[in-house]
Amino acid sequence: MKFRELGIIDPILKAVAREGYEAPSPIQAQAIPLLLTGKDLLGCAQTGTGKTAAFAIPILQILYEQRKAGQKKRKLQALILTPTRELALQIAESFQIYGRYTGLKTAVIFGGVGQNPQVAALKSGIDILVATPGRLLDLLNQRLCNLGDISMLVLDEADRMLDMGFVRDVKKIIAQLPSQRQTLLFSATMPKEIAALADSILHNPVTVAVTPVSSTVELIDQSVYFVDKANKSHLLKELLEDGEIVSALVFSRTKHGADKISRALKTAGIAVGAIHGNKSQNARQSALNDFKEGKIRVLVATDIAARGIDVEQLSHVINFDLPNIPETYVHRIGRTGRAGLSGKAISFCDFDEKAYLKDIEKLIDVKIPVIEDHPYPMRIFEHIESKAQPRAASGSVSQAVRPDRAGKRKEPRAAQPGAKSAKGGQPGRTGGRPVTKGGGGSHWRGDSRRSKKD
Ligand code: AMP
Repeated sequence: MKFRELGIIDPILKAVAREGYEAPSPIQAQAIPLLLTGKDLLGCAQTGTGKTAAFAIPILQILYEQRKAGQKKRKLQALILTPTRELALQIAESFQIYGRYTGLKTAVIFGGVGQNPQVAALKSGIDILVATPGRLLDLLNQRLCNLGDISMLVLDEADRMLDMGFVRDVKKIIAQLPSQRQTLLFSATMPKEIAALADSILHNPVTVAVTPVSSTVELIDQSVYFVDKANKSHLLKELLEDGEIVSALVFSRTKHGADKISRALKTAGIAVGAIHGNKSQNARQSALNDFKEGKIRVLVATDIAARGIDVEQLSHVINFDLPNIPETYVHRIGRTGRAGLSGKAISFCDFDEKAYLKDIEKLIDVKIPVIEDHPYPMRIFEHIESKAQPRAASGSVSQAVRPDRAGKRKEPRAAQPGAKSAKGGQPGRTGGRPVTKGGGGSHWRGDSRRSKKD
């Protein structure tokens, strides 16, 4: 399948070719032709599937053709709502990239920074606006933005907007839009609140589903280390001594935890940055840029801050804490193995997190291989406040066969063939269920090139 076969116009084809994209991804192949006919769309897709281009290309094309057909004045006609600032910036950048030969103008607004430059951008005349809900509502309330001409609306990462408590703001914004419009809703998962929202705002939508959340990205090698909480940062430092970890996005459940991890790594002389909600927008952006440019090897992030982060050739995702929501695990590890590249996902699991691991394995329908031979095997098998554990003597036998609480012997989860040790470890391919894909994109995973925007 070629982009040209999707009915895409030359100025956009040229921009896509300039990015080095050779073939549309499955979601692009499915969604673009439908969106060009003006249909509403319910997209079940996570980041990493190429969904931004799947909605940006048709929006750009429809607006470009309207202008060519004689619409003189620039009007704000397309609105993309997205949960985080990072994602908003990335989406706006994508519109600029794919739209570079269309003459259309995109602006981006989000909270945490002064509003004046954003207001000036709105006033200067734009066609497309990418926004986080809170700041947009704020500007609407101040009457500094008018959505009366919006004919296309995209709700991106709707499930994450729900998690972040934005749904009320989103509904208030939608109430200010003309009812005659094309609406697209993307969500990696479909909790019932989002299904209800989709039902209320989409008219006869077509549904496009790629990478269902119950499948993990097929190219990612997953592994888990059983380790006590107090030893996790020691284990992390140990793993980072391995040159195989070129770049690692380390997930922490809490902001405080993210700071603690980054301090511990800094002390060990590892170039690290942290992004989370307590950091200023500038600090977050500069840490992200340093990471993208390879100036720092490790970026520690909370789930919300990391949402949508797109880093070229991210070699490892490390779950310092396991998420209590299993879908979050899928979102996290999807940061690596993007656009056809393989990646590795390493998880640390302490005693208290074993239930989370069980939920994750149930969701992805894969037993994650356990790395048993490492210097900080789990010693605490009950719920107590853990204290730093002495490092096990090098070469010590793993405690992978351990007594459970009742004192019975319990076999560890079987490691998959190919699982190796922490050092120089190439954890075994999980054999995750293949990603379900519909239509086209046969060259997407194998042959596609990464975007230059990353
Ligand atoms: P997204 O899911 O929109 O965040 O896109 C994930 C990554 O894939 C981004 O780096 C895009 O630049 C890249 N990408 C999108 N479409 C294609 C394509 N057809 N071929 C190669 N890379 C792509």
